[in-house]
Amino acid sequence: MFKNELDFTKYFFNKKFNCQMNLQLNEHNKKEYPPMHTAEHILNQTMVRMFGCPRSRNTHIERKKSKCDYYLDQAPTEDQVKEIEERVNKVINSNLQVTEDFVHIDEAEDLVDLSKLPEDVSQMLRIIRVGQYDVCACIGSHVENTSEIGEFYITTHTFDNGRWRVRFKLKEA
Ligand SMILES: [Zn+2]
Repeated sequence: MFKNELDFTKYFFNKKFNCQMNLQLNEHNKKEYPPMHTAEHILNQTMVRMFGCPRSRNTHIERKKSKCDYYLDQAPTEDQVKEIEERVNKVINSNLQVTEDFVHIDEAEDLVDLSKLPEDVSQMLRIIRVGQYDVCACIGSHVENTSEIGEFYITTHTFDNGRWRVRFKLKEA
């Protein structure tokens, strides 16, 4: 259906694919560990592409370990879990630049889903891109290049009532 990754990404951007401000970042912004948080962006996009699910809205990012929740019809198989790790590491190992742009909210409509933004959101949104792989409105702290993230690996995962909770760590870059 898609000629390449870029076409695929454009397709989703054009569909205003689910990419919302992560409200939790307001509170936890200062404590965030940029490599972990940037890995979260990549994991979210990987889950969207593999399973068509929304990005995680219940995320806990810590320096040593993090977790995200995804709502899926069934638990990913062990092969799929392996594939998630491989895809995330492939993006990390592509040494992609992580860039920020400030876009007026009216122009951001075509780029990200604005439905989850708070009422009092500012008129200018900060748009974070991981190369051409992911785009998201976000106020968190990120690395400048994915080469700073290190190796991503999943430690444990559980599936309960449609919620897949995945815990992950990074091996230092
Ligand atoms: Zn972010």
